[in-house]
Amino acid sequence: SLKAPLSGGGGAIYKYSELSVSDISRLIQRNVDPANEIRTLVEDIIENVKQHGDNALADYAEKFDKVSLDKLYLDKTELQEIAAAVSADQQAALQVAYDNIYKFHQSQLKTEDKVETMPGVSCWRELRPIEKVGLYIPGGTAVLPSTFLMLGIPAKIAGCKEVVVCSPPQKNGKVNAFIAYVALMLGIDKVYLAGGAQAVAAMAYGTESIAKVDKIFGPGNQFVTKSKTIIQSTTTTAIDMPAGPSEVLVIADDTANPVFIAADLLAQAEHGIDSQSILVCTSQQIAEATQAEVDRQLPTLPRAEIARQALDQSYMVVTGNLEEAMAFSNQYAPEHLILATQHWQQISGSIINAGSVFLGNLTPESAGDYASGTNHTLPTSSYARAYSGVSVDSFVKKITFQHLTHEGIQNIGPSVEILAEMEGLHAHRNAVSVRLSPPAP
Ligand code: NAD
Repeated sequence: SLKAPLSGGGGAIYKYSELSVSDISRLIQRNVDPANEIRTLVEDIIENVKQHGDNALADYAEKFDKVSLDKLYLDKTELQEIAAAVSADQQAALQVAYDNIYKFHQSQLKTEDKVETMPGVSCWRELRPIEKVGLYIPGGTAVLPSTFLMLGIPAKIAGCKEVVVCSPPQKNGKVNAFIAYVALMLGIDKVYLAGGAQAVAAMAYGTESIAKVDKIFGPGNQFVTKSKTIIQSTTTTAIDMPAGPSEVLVIADDTANPVFIAADLLAQAEHGIDSQSILVCTSQQIAEATQAEVDRQLPTLPRAEIARQALDQSYMVVTGNLEEAMAFSNQYAPEHLILATQHWQQISGSIINAGSVFLGNLTPESAGDYASGTNHTLPTSSYARAYSGVSVDSFVKKITFQHLTHEGIQNIGPSVEILAEMEGLHAHRNAVSVRLSPPAP
């Protein structure tokens, strides 16, 4: 079991040098479902949507979102009516976010060069959009129009033909004004009123009103994420990545400001009770000063109760130096990593696992969450070890092409014949041989 924390208040404070390998592997675990309770529940939901389509969606809206729906979508006219409530300064802020996200993602669309691997043998890749994509926009405890921008903009830049959007209905049976406004900014005319595991299942199997898509994108709570991981292995629909309950790891030294660190930890904790906010710092003093700041700032927040529960499962680790802090962070593989130190340039090169990184004391995660330009749909629960966040790449396929000239087949042919022979695949060899010495017509 874990060694006793140095202090209990809120989250625990651990000393890195006293943690064993198994302590660390327990500390870095999150969102485990050991008894498969979430899996079993989600498998039931998926099966029900598969069998009963729209009727199942309406039943789940009633059960989980506490709303009885006449129809399962909002059309353009309804979206326009709802969006009218967005004020001018809110529209301007959404436009700043839109423009920066667009600019950053547009730069990801690159044409690759053709490569002549041998004289007469050319190979290259071309991008083609994924035709039908499904976007999940969370809307349980907080509605996230920012996520709509983060998914809708790269889908648009990539040129996806059909974009299906699902978001949980609010108590009035609609989406909120910001979601409606962003839909119109993106040129999307329909938003389906479906949330949770059932929305993911609907986009993977299709229902009477929702089209089956080729790939599903978007973050969500544990039900959404589990549903995505199940449909990925049981249907032909792909997913962007497992993007579950949000998390941040802050690395800080004595050049950091505990007021800023506390604000960043709380910004993460207010997402949901299953969020994690981890501080890894180089002295006990920074840990305690940050804890005091968290205690001071927490009660001022409207979502204090959610943040308090998230902090209860969060913790701090005190290390001997920044290198040790980075070693812990690389094992944790955080979705968001903040380097709260003036010396960030010294250590940023040793980051191995992280979804998105925020450098220095003046770069809050909130900037990237909303408006700097980077994407906020990121791998959680240590998936940052192997997955990248959403980008334009996520919405395209990279198809390889090749072309051989007369010189090319002469150059490569003999080697391919021998390689095919080595594998005993004579038809393969023959497909080359007939071209090297074509039979007389
Ligand atoms: P959500 O839209 O993900 O989930 C709401 C839906 O969950 C409801 O409509 C309902 O259908 C379903 N649900 C609720 N309780 C259920 C139950 N007991 N059984 C089955 N289904 C149930 O909204 P949320 O809950 O507010 O969660 C949003 C999540 O997205 C947060 O955890 C946040 O941290 C995360 N997030 C992650 C990223 C990322 O990039 N990783 C980005 C933004 C948000």
